[in-house]
Parts: sequence; C-alpha cells; structure tokens
Amino acid sequence: MRATMMDYPLTVVQLFERAQRYFPHTEVVSRMPDKSLHRETFGQFYHRTRSLGAALARAGLKKGDRVATLMWNHYAHLEAYFGVPVSGGVLHTLNLRLHPDDIAYTINDAADRFLIVDDLLVPLYEQLRGKANFERVIVARLSGKALPAGCEDYEAFLAGGDAGFDYPAIDERDPLGICYTSGTTGRPRGVVYSHRSTVLHALSSMLPDAYGISRRDSICMVAPMFHINGWGLAFMAAAVGAKLVFPGPALDAESLLGLFETEQVTFAGAVTTVWLGVLQLLEREPGRWRLAPGLRLLIGGTAAPESLIRAFDRFGVTVLHAWGMTETSPLATISAPGPHLAALDEQQRYAVRAKHGLAMPLVDLRVVAEGVEVPRDGKTMGELQVRGPYITGAYHNLAHDPEKFTEDGWLRTGDVAVIDATGYIKLTDRIKDLIKSGGEWISSVDLENLIMAHPAVAEAAVIAVAHPKWGERPLAVVVLKPGQSASAEELQKFLEPKVAKWWLPDRYVFADSIPRTSTGKFLKSRLRELYAGRPAEPASGRP
Ligand code: ADP
Repeated sequence: MRATMMDYPLTVVQLFERAQRYFPHTEVVSRMPDKSLHRETFGQFYHRTRSLGAALARAGLKKGDRVATLMWNHYAHLEAYFGVPVSGGVLHTLNLRLHPDDIAYTINDAADRFLIVDDLLVPLYEQLRGKANFERVIVARLSGKALPAGCEDYEAFLAGGDAGFDYPAIDERDPLGICYTSGTTGRPRGVVYSHRSTVLHALSSMLPDAYGISRRDSICMVAPMFHINGWGLAFMAAAVGAKLVFPGPALDAESLLGLFETEQVTFAGAVTTVWLGVLQLLEREPGRWRLAPGLRLLIGGTAAPESLIRAFDRFGVTVLHAWGMTETSPLATISAPGPHLAALDEQQRYAVRAKHGLAMPLVDLRVVAEGVEVPRDGKTMGELQVRGPYITGAYHNLAHDPEKFTEDGWLRTGDVAVIDATGYIKLTDRIKDLIKSGGEWISSVDLENLIMAHPAVAEAAVIAVAHPKWGERPLAVVVLKPGQSASAEELQKFLEPKVAKWWLPDRYVFADSIPRTSTGKFLKSRLRELYAGRPAEPASGRP
C-alpha cells in the first residue's frame, strides 16, 4: 500500500513561520545587562531573524556551515537559534563556562566559520583568539561597549533587512545544531541535532504530561541557551505562541524572582542548585513576590531532592523532575504529577515525584545489568539505555564507540537506574560516581538528597573514598545554610533511620561551597581530588 501520507519534512522553518503567522503579538522579554527589560514581539523577532538569515547568506553561509554563538540568554541568542537553522546553517552554542582551551577545542572540532558574541562575553572571546579562528565575528552590543578591532556590529550586520531572503531547501535529516557534552566525565563530545529530531523533541516534550506547554505560558529560559538547545523551549514556544522571557546574565535568585513576578512566568527550567537558591530566598522572605498561579519549575541535569519538591509545593510551585542528557536532546524521562498520584498517601506521592519518571512517548528505555533487563522491582540497579528519533546515534568526528552504543543500537547512558512495576525509573548514580562498598553499590545521589532534607543543610555532595577493608566508603561534603549549624553526629543521627547502616557516610566535611561544573552540577572529580586521598574516619564530631 503506497498511497499514504505526504512525505512532508519536519523542519523548524514550520515552527518559525507559525510563530509569525498566528502569534505576531506574543512577547519576547530580555533582561539587559543594565537590568532594564528589552521587549519585542514575535513579529519583530521574525523579521530580525530573517534579516540575520539574509545577512548570513550575504556573508557566504553555505548549507551545513557552522555558526557559533557565545552569548547569555536574550533576544539576540533567540534570533541565532532560528536564524542559523532556517538559513541551512548549523548552530553551535559555545559553553561559556568551559575553560577557554576546551571552548577552543569545540570550535575547532565543529569547524565553526562565524561567531556571534554578545559584548559582555568579548573578554572571553579574546582569550580564544589564536586558539580558534573565525572568518567573521559579529558583536551584539547589549551593553553598548565599543566594538573590538576586527569585529563587526550585529545591528549593522542585520541592517540590510530580509528583502529577498529565501529559505534554502531543507531536508528533515539535515543538521540544525551541535552541542557538546559539558565534559563532566571527560573531553566534550559533539552531538549533532537534525531538524527532524528537534521538531519531534519539541512536540513530544510539550505534551500535557510532560512540560505541558501552551499558549497560556510565559516561559523563562533560565538554563543556559548553550546547554542542550536551551532544553528545546524556544522551539516549543514558537509552535504554540508562548511568551519567552530571558534572564540575561542575572541568574541570582533575587533577579530571577523579580523577573518571574513582573513577567508572570509560569514555566522555567534549571539545574537543582539554581532552584535551591530560589527556595532559600523564598523561605527567607515569604510573601515578597507575587508569583503566577500554577508556576512549574523543571529540574533536569541533576537530581531533584524530595525535600525541594515538598518545599516548593508549600509556595504553590510545582516541581517537574526530568532526566536527559546532551545525547537525548535532552528530555528522555519525566515525572510529572498526574491523576495516578491521587491513590497514594503523601509520602508515596513525593517518593514518586522525586523519581525520574516515565520514558517520553518517542523514547524506548531499558535498564540492563550483565546483559539482561533488570526486573521491574524498583530495587535492582542496571545501566539505563535509550533509543529513539531524538537520541543521538553517533558523536561528531568520533568513531563508533562500543562503550557508548550497544550492538543492537541503544545509547549506553552511563547512568545507573532502577525501574519499578509502573515503569518509573529512578536514577541512582552515574556509573563513575557509584560507591562500591564491600561489593555492594551505594547511591551517592540518594545520600545527597537525604542529607539535603536536613533543615540546616544547603547543599551536599557524596563521593567515594578508598577504604582498605571495604574498597570504597562514602564521604559527604556539606554546605550549611547561612547562620545554621549541624554536627557530623547530628547528620548521622538524621540519616540513621532512613538508610541501611552500611550506607551511612564514614566522614563529613563541612565546606563553604561545592565546586560546580560548567552547567552547575557538583564537580565530583574535583571533590575526589580534594578529599578522596584522605583516610576515612568515623563520623564523630565536626571535622
Ligand atoms: P555531562 O555528562 O557533561 O554533565 P549533560 O549535561 O549531557 O553532560 O548531562 C547528562 C547527565 O546529567 C546524565 O547522564 C545524568 O548523569 C545527569 N542527569 C541528568 N538529569 C538528571 C536528573 N534529573 N537527576 C540526576 N542526574 C541527572
């Protein structure tokens, strides 16, 4: 039977055109470096973005050429998000928090031709000079700084307008963007997204039982736009006409809450540490902000402690907990509250919400140990493996790696999970972070989340330290909330009823802060450097 549906390509051009056709009055709000708010409409965004496309074509952009961005989250970055792909280019969002040598490595690996940089990040660009070169460097002068030598002005670049701009023929399998893993566990690896994968990811992620994005939403893109396509939110907003709000470089809790209030934000995504900061401020000054009813905060990239989900509920704010990675576009699983929770008691409800949830509709998932799928008992740990139309099948410029892909075509995520009878998964760790004590696995993530439930604890990270008898034992690095105190003994007593005795950390270290990766995750490799060499001691008193 050959007479079936049209073979119509899935491209972001469709989403971009739709944004203009149906939602020209939807707002795009950006916090500028001087803290003022820049406002434009989807109509203006559409014309400026087409102007960018026309300018890139005049500059000689050919299909498949890479265009890099080095920018905070704001309207100019949004223009690049659409302007580069609808012109047939491939957007490479540089991770501004990586070491300059690593940024240069990704630029050279991706063979970027052009760079669009905002003037706040010109000093970082200058550190890349000589290590990585671009044909043209275009500076969006958000703070009005003088144009550096050899660069051109973004507004002048766009000034030719979009007259005569034509979309090139785009196949849905054409590349649209490249992002690099943030290198938490090694050298950054490039993942190339196609138009098709991006559209399918956006449509799937915005479903009601996932992000639930609609035209009524005001979406604040808090997670950096260099991180995994800004988690796909800009494409979802274009599809349905949701308002977009960008925090610029002001990512502190005070600035975010202010923006959430003035723009009546209903949806925002970031890693746990950002929301921990926001929560602490809300708790210190309850009633100061009038947040939009029904605000949802998405946590991905790091585990959401149950205590955080509970605490936000008290402010009428719903936490959605998701799992994904650069390789998965990113959303692969989510635990969104639904009617299935009604039959559970409060404790069970929060336990389910703190899990990582169900696989997205287009994602296949399995948990494998020693070559076979583990039972759905919520206990047996195995490696999480996924496949689907927005899961990468390879890495840019790297040969097939059997450590990353199975022979039968699944991505080996390097994450360890359990799966329960309802199909919900719960990540227990990265394989590299699991603690192997006396031949048994201890989940560092579980311990961290339990310690963070203590009222005096702001943050906690748990690592393995070598132990002569047990192989490895857990060590907890704890940051206390300002003005609060808790001893190691007290924390140990707090944990005792909650975990098996052999899970209890051998030692607590109190620190002022926990080192972070470029995307705000706990940098466990650094913690291991700092603390793993020390012999383990019993948890007695404050070290
Ligand atoms: P990197 O591996 O360099 O940190 P990514 O940003 O792609 O790069 O991170 C993906 C990883 O982040 C996952 O493999 C997983 O270990 C971790 N991760 C993602 N979401 C969660 C979550 N909700 N809970 C715990 N860990 C998570």
